Parts: sequence; C-alpha cells; structure tokens
Amino acid sequence: APTTNADFIQLEDKVAAHNYAPLPVVVAQAEGVWVTDVEGNRYLDALAGYSALNFGHRHPGLVEAAKAQLDRSTLTSRAFHNDQLGPFCEALAKLVGKDMILPMNTGAEAVETALKLARKWGYQVKGVAEGRAHIIVMDGNFHGRTTTIISFSDDPDARDDYGPYTPGFESVPYGDLAAIENAITDDTVAVLVEPIQGEQGVQIPKEGFLPGLRELCTEKNVLMIADEIQSGLGRTGTTLACEYEGVEADIYTLGKALGGGIVPVSAVAADADVMNVITPGTHGSTFGGNPLAAAVGLAVVNMLATGEHQAHAAELETVFRDGLEALVGQGAVAVRVRGLWAGIDIDPELMSGKEACKGLAKRGVLAKDTHGSTIRLAPPLVITREELTQVVDALGEVLAEA
Ligand code: PLP
Repeated sequence: APTTNADFIQLEDKVAAHNYAPLPVVVAQAEGVWVTDVEGNRYLDALAGYSALNFGHRHPGLVEAAKAQLDRSTLTSRAFHNDQLGPFCEALAKLVGKDMILPMNTGAEAVETALKLARKWGYQVKGVAEGRAHIIVMDGNFHGRTTTIISFSDDPDARDDYGPYTPGFESVPYGDLAAIENAITDDTVAVLVEPIQGEQGVQIPKEGFLPGLRELCTEKNVLMIADEIQSGLGRTGTTLACEYEGVEADIYTLGKALGGGIVPVSAVAADADVMNVITPGTHGSTFGGNPLAAAVGLAVVNMLATGEHQAHAAELETVFRDGLEALVGQGAVAVRVRGLWAGIDIDPELMSGKEACKGLAKRGVLAKDTHGSTIRLAPPLVITREELTQVVDALGEVLAEA
C-alpha cells in the first residue's frame, strides 16, 4: 500500500487523468489554515482551494452543521421539497440583496445557469428574436470548464481541440467600457464579468469600470452578470467584490466558499422579474439544492451575515499589501491586492510562477501559479496577522535566494 508522498503521486499518475500538475504534496489532514501531508510535513495553505476554503479547513461550525444534517437527511432530489432549501435561499438572497436563488453544485453550472437565464429573459422579456441572443464577455475570462464556457475563453489550454464552439458570445478587452458599448446591439441580453479576474492573476479593473458597466447595462436594457464565484463571499473584504464600488449586478453567480469547503454548492441570485422566466421542467440538477448542501450553505451565509470575516479580510489587507509591495524590485515586478487576495508578478528572468510555488512549498507555504510568472495568494480568511506575515516573508526569501 502507498505510504510516502512519492508512492501516492506515482499511483495517481497511473490511474488518475492528468488534467492537473499538482505540487508534490499529498495532503492527509487539514485544519484551519494548516494542512499536513502523508509524511507529517505541515504547510500553511495560502491557496485555500481557490477560495473554496475561505473559512479554513474543517471550520468547526460548518463541520457541525454538516454532521447534524448527515443525521437527518442528505438528498431528496427536487422532485420533493426539503426543509433546508427554503431557509438557505432566504438567507442567501438577503445576504446578496436579491429576491431569489437558483441552487446548483459547481461554479461552471452556476455560470451556465446564469447564461441560460439571461438568454431566456432576452427572448421572453426583452423581446429578442428567436436564436439571436448575444452575450458579451471579457478577454482573459475564466468561468469554468464546460463546452459553452470554454467556447468564449481566450486561453488556448482551456479551449484548443474542444470545438465546435458555442456561438452567441463576443469577447472584448477587460475593463474597456467603450468596447462594451460598441459591442452592444439590440440582441444583447447580458454582459458577463468577473469583478476581479482571479485566474488571470487577480486583475483588478480600474476604478469606475464596474459602476460604468452598471450604468451602461441599465441604459441599454442588458443584464449585468457578476461572476463572484472566486471574488465573492468575503475574499475581498466585502461580501461581494462588486460592493467595493457600490455596484449591484442583476445576476450573481456564487460557488466555491458557499459550500464551506465541505460540499460543492453553487447558486445564481437574481430578482424575481428575471428569475421567474425559469419554470418547472426548464432547468434543473439532481443534486442542486440538496438538504446537506443547503444546511452547509446556510451555515456559511450565517457566518458571513455577521460581517466579521469580511472585516478581518479588510483589516489584514494593509499588512498584506505593505508586505508584498516591499517585494517589488526585490524579485517581484508588480503586486495587486484586494482584501486577502493577491496576484504577484515575478520577474520572469528570475523564475517562473511554478518555481516560486515550489520554493514556497519548501518553506512550508502552499500557493498556486496562474499564468507564466504570476502567482496568486488567497489564504483562508481565518488567517492571523502573524501567519500572514509568515506567508509574505516566505515569498521574500524565495525571491531573495533566486
Ligand atoms: N467562475 C470563476 C470566476 C472561477 O474562478 C471559477 C473557478 O475557478 C469558476 C467560475 C468555475 O467553478 P468550478 O470549478 O466550481 O466549476
């Protein structure tokens, strides 16, 4: 039987598809911001499951909610009602300021759902002619891995050899309001945007873009869809990243942290005038809205409703930014920080993002490269100031030793 990191990696390599190239760390146990591998090495998890672990590994309140629900009911299907779905949807709708929730499981499913919702709204409410619905997306986007979503990606790794591609999408430069305005036609039903592009390296649009987009969408009767799957639920120091500039989208997609790092839970949030174009039988999911997911999701929403995690992220932002900005010129060429989320561009002459992450792992910190020489840090929101300083110091050492 496999026992060492190398054993498990060798086994995986043989029998699990090679759609990832993970760091050579085989996690066996995890708690809070810390994970332990099969050989007993401890690491600080500064990726936090791409923000799915915003509350850390095995948060006691979330584990308790999950365990309690495991003893009551786990899956009903939506052919029947369950006593967890209503309270979950009510709380989540209130948290994000919308009337209604459509629960799904993964992020990509939530995005697909939002796209279907927007198209249907276009035909039934806006009056777009059959088959003509047009949706504007941003260059550099990442919204998931389904065939339709990768159809409007500009990342060759995500897209190549998966065609034929879904029509009806047009991509424009991220943050370019004039380009969006130019692209909007009478057939445009929605603009799909990440308020901050996570996979692209925590790219923060210039101030005024999101409010400008909000105004443009209202003026042109186009739905603004904010994909908050990675940016939302406390990561940026506010419940939603859109809030930072006081913007309210028409549709939000949520996921990752919504499942508390325990179960996959995603959701689409919208007001009734939009959501009610979906009628029985026109959309669904076997697992979406199951009572275990809803119970954990409700516990997550209740934690966010107090605002304490958002406040903690906002408070530590300064420590994070000051620490990382001090590395510019010391091996880093640019850093972008919002809340407990950072993209760091490393001097490509010095090392790749992957090499930086290997160096960090040697110093007990887990992080993930994004494109080329960029790395992303997104530690659990429960990280302490001292632990955060540890992460920044480790990166400083990796860069200094190169
Ligand atoms: N949307 C955004 C902004 C994301 O960052 C991701 C995942 O990284 C997704 C959608 C897809 O989520 P999932 O991997 O759960 O399908």
